[in-house]
Amino acid sequence: MLCSSCGCTITDSQNISKELNPYPHDKGFGTCFECGIEKIKGMCIQLFPMLRESICEKHREKFDSMSEDQKCSVVFLAFKDGVLK
Ligand SMILES: [Zn+2]
Repeated sequence: MLCSSCGCTITDSQNISKELNPYPHDKGFGTCFECGIEKIKGMCIQLFPMLRESICEKHREKFDSMSEDQKCSVVFLAFKDGVLK
């Protein structure tokens, strides 16, 4: 199986799109772990402004001072806790 983003060879168990329904790739293609992380990160970055709007000014300052990776984990946690939908 090939990763549809970077073209590297992956096994079925390394394909992080495996459980997705509908399956987002053609047969024989999947998403490797690295590309999956990149995609999730890209999605999180798009949500930065939305999260920023939804928090109070004090937290906004803290949010602005965070690195991109830290902001991503905040967005991820906000989703997990149901703050963002
Ligand atoms: Zn890949």
